[in-house]
Amino acid sequence: MSELVLEDAGGGVRIVRGPTNLGIVDAADGAAILIDSGNDEDSGRKLLRRLEADGVSLALIVNTHSNADHCGGNAFLQARTGCRIAATREEAAFVENPLLEPSLLWGGYPPASLRNKFLMAKPSRVTDVIPQSGPIPGTDLEAIPLPGHFVGMIGVRTPGGVLFCADALASAEILAKYPVFFLYDVAAHYRTLDFLASCPAELFVPSHAAPAREIGPLVEVNRRAVDRVNEVVLDLARSEPTWEELLAGLVTLLCIELNHSQYALVHSSIRAHLAYLADSGTLSTRFEGGKLRIGRR
Ligand SMILES: [Zn+2]
Repeated sequence: MSELVLEDAGGGVRIVRGPTNLGIVDAADGAAILIDSGNDEDSGRKLLRRLEADGVSLALIVNTHSNADHCGGNAFLQARTGCRIAATREEAAFVENPLLEPSLLWGGYPPASLRNKFLMAKPSRVTDVIPQSGPIPGTDLEAIPLPGHFVGMIGVRTPGGVLFCADALASAEILAKYPVFFLYDVAAHYRTLDFLASCPAELFVPSHAAPAREIGPLVEVNRRAVDRVNEVVLDLARSEPTWEELLAGLVTLLCIELNHSQYALVHSSIRAHLAYLADSGTLSTRFEGGKLRIGRR
């Protein structure tokens, strides 16, 4: 089993580098706080081994949001240590009821192909429901609202100015591989990008990109990726496609390879883009012969 890759960010903050970047923050009385818990039990086990080697106990996990790659280690760590878990009210619902995530993506009770560990973490108990903004009670950390990617996602800022910014930003490589980055609320995501571009922090730690002192360039890469999806949808809408035709056209144009999980993620995300474009007055939808058709306004 490979060990964790740790980077010292100073001020009692360490960054755990991996497919999902996590944080270990020193807390009072020789305890530690985790910012997210990684993919699964294996990730939880490695984190616990690290804390035990450091001689510190786990006091709290702060979940930025409820996607399985962020709260997948919760159940193991809470069973082993009895640690508290903090999440916003919206995300807590998903952390405690993981079936809600594939249900949201699918739009109803999901088939077995979507009830998988990538879309569903093991359930854990949220002991501390925290506001999306302001001090996180019992810690010297601050919750920063970063809605858009998921229903009540937050970032976490340390007193030394390290901002764990969750999935508000993805690396250029990830956006090239997954041109439709999952978004729950496109308008909120744009506002979050604007906010991050001017947000004071010494170091930004996106979950799926390298930590950076200057975040402006990555914000722009992410903004262009969202703009591009909107442009493709608007372009396809010129021929008044049905929903399935629109999705097929977009998947073909952006060279997206579908499997069940990818289909659900892209489907849900494009529905969010449709809502955004309809609400901003550029798209319209109508029904014809039992089919939803999407057109330009
Ligand atoms: Zn993630």
